[in-house]
Amino acid sequence: MPNYLAGYPPQWLAPVQALIDSGRLGESLRRRYPEDHAVRSDRALVDYVAALKRQYLRSAPPLAKVAYDARLHIVRNALGTHTAASRVQGTQLKAKREIRIASLFKQAPAPFLRMIVVHELAHLKVLAHDKAFYALCTHMEPAYHQLEFDLRLWLTALELEPPGPR
Ligand SMILES: [Zn+2]
Repeated sequence: MPNYLAGYPPQWLAPVQALIDSGRLGESLRRRYPEDHAVRSDRALVDYVAALKRQYLRSAPPLAKVAYDARLHIVRNALGTHTAASRVQGTQLKAKREIRIASLFKQAPAPFLRMIVVHELAHLKVLAHDKAFYALCTHMEPAYHQLEFDLRLWLTALELEPPGPR
């Protein structure tokens, strides 16, 4: 099993292993998450992120850049990236904040895009993956934890059952 799922309890993983063994992990996810999204361009992503930020994090500092990034590879604990590069400009400290989302999310079910954007937005307020961070994530998306687990299943399925000619 790829390490996207490292750290989850065995009782969560046993049914996943059964789906993998029978070659039905991808199919089961497509059934549970049939809804795709129209956020296919950077322009659309900027608007999508801005709408969520307006709704939940109005007081957070503005984002300098929001973009899909084809070079971004998904690894455990780095589902997207968020940078807060600070630089001193005169006497004023300015923080330049960027959100980059791995391009493969263009093809992801809509709830997974929402989950990853919520994750990156939460980092505007909390840098660590701690209790306060996940509290903010679940405030923005109550199903956050389930979606993060299922996103990891989706990544696992992509790796084990790559789409190909049928
Ligand atoms: Zn993070």
